[in-house]
Amino acid sequence: MPDFVFAPQPAPSVAISGSSARFPVRRILCVGRNYAAHAREMGQDPDREAPFFFTKPADAVVDSGASIPYPPLTRNFHHEIELVIAIGKGGSDIPATDALSHVFGYAVGIDLTRRDLQFAARDKGRPWDWGKAFDNAAPCAPIHPVATVGHPDKGRIWIAVDGVVKQDADLSELIWNVPEIIAIASQGVTLKPGDLIYSGTPAGVGAVERGQVMTGGIDGLGEIEISVTP
Ligand code: MN
Repeated sequence: MPDFVFAPQPAPSVAISGSSARFPVRRILCVGRNYAAHAREMGQDPDREAPFFFTKPADAVVDSGASIPYPPLTRNFHHEIELVIAIGKGGSDIPATDALSHVFGYAVGIDLTRRDLQFAARDKGRPWDWGKAFDNAAPCAPIHPVATVGHPDKGRIWIAVDGVVKQDADLSELIWNVPEIIAIASQGVTLKPGDLIYSGTPAGVGAVERGQVMTGGIDGLGEIEISVTP
């Protein structure tokens, strides 16, 4: 160990289904626009142009069951339910044909977004960070290891706010599938164990207010529940 000037922060981590061990999070990558209907609701062309990525800090992860504060600076705080890919084996320039061997498991996640700040940044050609990369912005339910769930490529993905379903789609509607996402991400950066990739959200994103509860799920991967403190 180097002689740090103060104690480093503990590694952020996510629960693993069926295990007391936790998945140490190194980095969070997120895919923009990966369901055609969501691209259209964002006012964008859903053509299959190469996927693009943005990031969140690793310590933005939050366990399912948590209550989080309404974030600062926003008046339009949005849920985006997403399939999360947990990377267990690193690499760069990973061929799509080999990509699934790099996956540790999958989870239900929410890409929480300060939509007003994201759009203001987008419209001015500025970085998205303040819209996407804030405290508690990456809730993630327990990871289900590949050994138990395989590689889900279809099945319902949904989220409800106070019991009212807002997003309801199927994983088969992903524009770029899991092997392609991993292959393309690894062309731009070296993936390492502990990386999480949020794979994009279907249509129906919308606001969540103080005191509301988000409940979402993906077939075979369980559910996530996150409350916003009143
Ligand atoms: Mn998203």
